[in-house]
Amino acid sequence: MTMLFADASQRLQQALKYVDISEDAIEYLKFPQASLSVSIPVRMDDGRLKVFQGYRVRFDSTRGPTKGGVRYHPNVSLDEVQSLAFWMTFKCAVLNLPFGGAKGGVTLNPKVLSKFELERLSRGYIDAIADFIGPDIDILAPDVYTNPMIMGWMMDQYSRIRRKLCPGVVTGKPVAIGGSLGRDTATAMGAFFVIKTILAKHNRSPQETTVAVQGFGNAGAEVAELLFHAGYQVIAVSDSQGGIFAAQGLDIPSLRQAKEASRSFKAFYCQDSVHNLVEHELLSNEELLSLDVDVLIPAALENQITEVNAKDVQAKFIFEVANGPVTSAADHHLQQKGVQVFPDILVNAGGVTVSYFEWVQNKSGLYWSLAEVNQRLQQKMIAETEAIWALSQKQATSMRTAAYIHALKRIGEAIAAKGTRDYYINH
Ligand code: GLU
Repeated sequence: MTMLFADASQRLQQALKYVDISEDAIEYLKFPQASLSVSIPVRMDDGRLKVFQGYRVRFDSTRGPTKGGVRYHPNVSLDEVQSLAFWMTFKCAVLNLPFGGAKGGVTLNPKVLSKFELERLSRGYIDAIADFIGPDIDILAPDVYTNPMIMGWMMDQYSRIRRKLCPGVVTGKPVAIGGSLGRDTATAMGAFFVIKTILAKHNRSPQETTVAVQGFGNAGAEVAELLFHAGYQVIAVSDSQGGIFAAQGLDIPSLRQAKEASRSFKAFYCQDSVHNLVEHELLSNEELLSLDVDVLIPAALENQITEVNAKDVQAKFIFEVANGPVTSAADHHLQQKGVQVFPDILVNAGGVTVSYFEWVQNKSGLYWSLAEVNQRLQQKMIAETEAIWALSQKQATSMRTAAYIHALKRIGEAIAAKGTRDYYINH
């Protein structure tokens, strides 16, 4: 078993102690159902041919077609994609979506590709995996460094191959070609509902709550802005280049505008106009994780808080907006320090929840208003947060273990519905 996947499976082991689940279900969940590795030849703008490595893993389809994003990142590996597919399986079950889990990725640095090259690569990826996916088999979506435009190319390419329009094979598409209103902000919005629900239980008002956000991409920047508008003190944010800190709070909307204009905090802080918006200090990603804040939101990549730096964490609450930012060894240290960790498979599940809404809209041909999308998202996120909270109180476990217990019950029931050893031998 590879490293990241072994770490992911640890969480399952923890939860198994509390769930009465058949041996068959445990056996099913040990390995991914199917893994595909592909080579994607791409004609580059200078005429060269370059071959990229891509992956798609379908972890488990017991509860429905598999579902999960596609990431473009230099560190993408089969191990990483398998772990992310595993998390998707549990995430879909936590939210009771009729999906199994999957994930895809291509190993590359998308920032150095031209838009033409990115389009050829995205279409090439679909050519390579077309027989492995489908609206009722395995459904794609955005993840790290992929966006609605790329989802649109992928849907278009799949439709060309099948010679008919297949909007349901990809979610997170541009709204003009079958995307759902609210999908772009869904991950952050879902996280926001979880954060509000939890902090209310601790009688914390936004004004007296300080927040640091690691990662200023689609999810991180949006969650920072939602918290800012709700009155929370967002005092530090960072991106892959580094971060900034201001004790009196940052002006998140203007930071976003400036980042969009110049692509990184460092670059834009040379510009006078933004520099003057707020007094700030520069800080590294590592420093951000150890800030004395109430709420820490890792919203970048996996393995950020490990057994090495967990001892430096001073936050009281960690909400995992990224997938897998806290390792299982770090969980142990954080728990001992009394830091409460709210797991990715709940906190960032708003994205896949609105992906499900998009898929339903594509299938029915009836499109919902933004208010309807957000209202349904809110209802689902709060209901599952409350259920997991109650479970964690009842079983005296961490929120992570409670979330896995909650998901495992649903997955276990679905596996058992097809017959277990007990059914075949004892009845
Ligand atoms: N990539 C997102 C995630 O990790 C969204 C997946 C989806 O919408 O299918 O949850």
